[in-house]
Amino acid sequence: MDDHRGRERSDRTEVAAVERTGASPLCANQSVPTRRELAMMLLAQPPAESPFYFDLHIDTPARIISEDLKLDESHPYTCVDIPKMRQGGLHAGFFAILASARSMTPAEAYKRALQITKTVVDEVKRHRRDLVLATSTREVLKAKRDGKIAILLAIEGGHMIDSNLDHLRHFYKLGARYMGLTHSGNTPWVGAAEYLDGPKGLTDFGREVVREMNRLGMMIDLAHASDQAFYDTLAVTKAPIINTHAACRKVANHPRNLTDDMLKALAKNGGVLGVAYYTGMLDDAHREKFREVAELGRKRGEIVKQFGADKKRMSEELWKLGREEVKSIGQPPLSRLVDHIEHAAAVAGIDHVGLGCDFDSIGPKTPANLDHIGQTPNLIAEMTKRGFKPADIAKIMGGNALRVMQQAEK
Ligand SMILES: [Zn+2]
Repeated sequence: MDDHRGRERSDRTEVAAVERTGASPLCANQSVPTRRELAMMLLAQPPAESPFYFDLHIDTPARIISEDLKLDESHPYTCVDIPKMRQGGLHAGFFAILASARSMTPAEAYKRALQITKTVVDEVKRHRRDLVLATSTREVLKAKRDGKIAILLAIEGGHMIDSNLDHLRHFYKLGARYMGLTHSGNTPWVGAAEYLDGPKGLTDFGREVVREMNRLGMMIDLAHASDQAFYDTLAVTKAPIINTHAACRKVANHPRNLTDDMLKALAKNGGVLGVAYYTGMLDDAHREKFREVAELGRKRGEIVKQFGADKKRMSEELWKLGREEVKSIGQPPLSRLVDHIEHAAAVAGIDHVGLGCDFDSIGPKTPANLDHIGQTPNLIAEMTKRGFKPADIAKIMGGNALRVMQQAEK
């Protein structure tokens, strides 16, 4: 660990950098706590009651634009809105910007990503009393002190930079503080876990992207990346990496999950795995059952076509369909999610485990009693039942995510 003086020096450097780039007009002139103060605030907090809660991956942004969602309105069909975030005790969350890697060209996806970013920023500004856009750990903790939820921006898929480092820098300037190197393919410089039509690992340009992200202080997310891309990135990056939404392959054999060897490499790198809630990645037997409801899944397109003009109705119908699927195949128990958290903590160490709910992308395919972000206290209770100490739970809930972001900022 570095000494406090070194940390404060880098605080000042970072604030100066933010002011220079104008990346954070909201907070540039406000007094911000030093890293030591941040650490004290975290320690002073009673973790058992309300741990600092920082989620690494929330997929609401695309829904805000395509379904006209308003974040202050709570519906049965949304998993993340202000009332639910409050109920769940969320302090900070990365909102992932995703434009399709399959149905759009990278150039179209870049434009769409800018549109989604603007919509999210506007929506956050509309709810100043509850939300604030944050671009640094300091701003995250200031939001917490002010009783607001910090919303951070992330780009979910390198296809959206259209192989152009200027686009990457532009996203940083707009506030994005991590980028997933790939989503579902169509990124010519990095391999994806589930789509094998690209390179196996990182190309030379991919390595350039990683180096530029290091230079900017933008975290590198390897969710959706191939195993080879994972190892290639670790060989290049100077900062700890994150995988914002995946789980453990030893517990559930999904290609996006991390093997034990990858968990150990992640620990060595100092990174964090945000354990995802998607039941398809948590439980092999449960994933097998998806086939039983494949027919229902095909109705999705019909619903979008039929009710596309009435967004609210479309959302309701899609939600009903999702519930129908879940009703017929059930939900794995919450303890299944804790199995993954426990395994990651055992193999990588407690300092390398966080949460990345992936809500609003996975529909109702979540563990039982964790249907939306408001039900997060059930997860805390389940971890407590499993024997996790309050200090460990605090690390998992958000302490580790904050640490890894601080390290990327240096
Ligand atoms: Zn994802």
